[in-house]
Amino acid sequence: MIPLDLAALGARADAMLTELAAISAEPDRLTRLYLTPEHRRAADLVAAWMAAAGLAVREDALATVRGRWEAPSGTRRTLILGSHIDTIIDAGRFDGPLGVIAAIVAVDELRRIGVALPFAVEVCAFGDEEGVRFPTTLLGSSAVAGILDPADLDRTDAYDVSVRAALATYGCDPEAVAAARIAAEDAVGYLEVHIEQGPVLEREGVPLGVVTAIAGATRAVVTVSGEAGHAGTVPMGLRLDALAAASELVLAVERIGHAGAASDLVATVGRMAVRPGAVNVVPGAVELSLDVRASSDAPRRAAMAAIAAAAAEIAARRGVGIDIAVTHDRDTAPCTPAIVDVLSDAVAALGLPPRRLMSGAGHDGQAMAMLTDIGMIFVRCRGGVSHNPAEYASPEDIGLAVAALVRAVEGLAEKERERR
Ligand SMILES: [Zn+2]
Repeated sequence: MIPLDLAALGARADAMLTELAAISAEPDRLTRLYLTPEHRRAADLVAAWMAAAGLAVREDALATVRGRWEAPSGTRRTLILGSHIDTIIDAGRFDGPLGVIAAIVAVDELRRIGVALPFAVEVCAFGDEEGVRFPTTLLGSSAVAGILDPADLDRTDAYDVSVRAALATYGCDPEAVAAARIAAEDAVGYLEVHIEQGPVLEREGVPLGVVTAIAGATRAVVTVSGEAGHAGTVPMGLRLDALAAASELVLAVERIGHAGAASDLVATVGRMAVRPGAVNVVPGAVELSLDVRASSDAPRRAAMAAIAAAAAEIAARRGVGIDIAVTHDRDTAPCTPAIVDVLSDAVAALGLPPRRLMSGAGHDGQAMAMLTDIGMIFVRCRGGVSHNPAEYASPEDIGLAVAALVRAVEGLAEKERERR
């Protein structure tokens, strides 16, 4: 094995992270939603980096930037590396971009040291992982995996713009979804580097982790329908106050989250829109978001059933309507044991303990798992903080992650040669 300059790899990736983080919808904080002008600029920068690393770059129907390094043999077998470049509102600079940049730097390093791989490598910069703009998630990776639900293209954002229309404005052809797919027989596997987004690695003083599974998640849009009325004239006893009913539901969600059978069950209402939303009007309708996750599927499903029952009880007692529309429901995705082993060996080759852990957050790997074998490397992040501008991973740890990715690609190459 040719030794790697970890400090140089980390410094380079860190500088790229800083450059990408400057591309935002807002001057003072990082917000880069799917199919926005900021996304366009970020995609162009990533495409330029990929081209500079010697990759053949294209953009697919769902706006995923794809940089391909063909194998000398010309085989269609493809190892996929990547993560996402969309962010939440007021994001940190590592969640997503780290995985894209680590992949580009790793591929550049492999090319530089002159490794001849028995498969092609394709680096993907996915666009819709966070699911903030549209009530969808993982659109880009779902298209690559061939599991995109065409109905998702008709989902709309807060301004009633559909995914399909936004793709056209962005410069993509939403009708070309089929061409985004990688055939299952061509896929070698999918590897992603990501910050841990939790405190385990930092607490144990371990820079890298190897992910064993990605927790399932259910998301829903809940609509509470009451009756709007004059705040001064409708007596308390005659009101159908949608916000008061929604508030009861929020507390029920919190209670059910606490009481779940799995200790890692979490249930969150993160957004609420009140209509008409005036100081002197009894709220007529409320739309709220629901997000339920656990490391196994049964507790998550039980929690969703309990929330539906609580909603039905509140609706009946208060005489309001409560509709729960599930927009995302994905089961736990186990990482492939053979890939977990390769990643563990890659981490161990750097002299680090290959700490294995579960991912509570969702990732593109959940969609990619429907296509091929998956594995993830987690990078320790300060305080376990993420989805927050304070998000931080050190250049040293990032250098280790890039090196682990390089070693993992070499490990998979070994396996691929044996496979023949
Ligand atoms: Zn992410």
